Amino acid sequence: MSLYDLSLNDIQTLLNDKPFRAKQVQQYMYLHLGDFSKTTSLPKPVLEKLTKLRLFQPALKISKISSCDSGKTEKFLFSLTDQYQVESVLMTYSNRSTACISSQVGCKMNCKFCATGQMGYLKNLTRGEIIEQVIKLMYYCKTNDLHPISNIVFMGMGEPFDNYDNCIDAAFTIKDQLNIGASHITLSTVGIVPSIKKYIYDQVPFRLAVSLHAADDETRSKIVPINKKYPISELVDTLKEYANSKFSKRLSLEWTLIENINDTPDQAKKLSFIARTLKAHVNLINLNRISESKYAPTTVAKVDQFKQILLQNNVNVTVRQTRGQLIDAACGQLALQKT
Ligand code: SAH
Repeated sequence: MSLYDLSLNDIQTLLNDKPFRAKQVQQYMYLHLGDFSKTTSLPKPVLEKLTKLRLFQPALKISKISSCDSGKTEKFLFSLTDQYQVESVLMTYSNRSTACISSQVGCKMNCKFCATGQMGYLKNLTRGEIIEQVIKLMYYCKTNDLHPISNIVFMGMGEPFDNYDNCIDAAFTIKDQLNIGASHITLSTVGIVPSIKKYIYDQVPFRLAVSLHAADDETRSKIVPINKKYPISELVDTLKEYANSKFSKRLSLEWTLIENINDTPDQAKKLSFIARTLKAHVNLINLNRISESKYAPTTVAKVDQFKQILLQNNVNVTVRQTRGQLIDAACGQLALQKT
């Protein structure tokens, strides 16, 4: 459990002190990014109580750092209060910083080209464990003179929509207490249809990204097994509902290009049709190879050809640059064992 799992009321009950104490604690948690070391206003017994409950943890350990021309990518390893560990990635540029955070330790989805998918599922992160990743990365930016975090993406380990309530709860806290606008927070899902329906029903204000990766069931089921449960037609119908709802923001479709699997002109044409129907933006990324995998990235020429077909079909597309490959911090490379 993390201090960030507690609501103001919980803290109040725990401290059994004057109401303003709980508010003070909350200020340290959010306004001062959990830096209680400099606190002069909190009495010692309050601090001791929190420490005794193991609600402070020197959890953060920077595992590997890599730099590249356009910015810096750093991978962080968090030790949780139980035996588990989880990773987050910070991407800093001169004018913005993005925190890529995890929602689970491991993942149940078993996507064939993803390192997390191959390690299996260990546990859901609590709301507090999700928030704490952001707090620690924000604190790191502040104390290292890096651009403050401007964007949050739930694209680390795990499937956010398989841990829906904790992720949505955490995202609201990040928006409200840490002042990151709803359109700067993105939840990425492999396409868990019932959770997407809930997301629509709840009118959740954050951005939605869907990892499509293939435009027909035969291809998609090979690399994204959950497709057998929620096939493309069902997924796309649900996303149409999302796109047509009044509150929705522009949808993103994620597409990891894998050689001889989903890098063909035929797939690009089929994707164009889906993207246009959903008025979605497509993010292409070439595969980051994971060790012992039979899947390979496609060629630069094929990335470009795929992109051109989308453009010819009037689809907005961005080719995402792979970052952090050298430190196993790139998309799909978070799997703990290499840290
Ligand atoms: N489970 C969520 C979020 C985590 S993964 C989801 O599926 O969306 C974030 C993105 O990285 C997803 O689009 C995922 O398919 C992609 N990804 C996974 N492994 C990858 C790899 N080896 N190379 C490139 N992208 C990868």
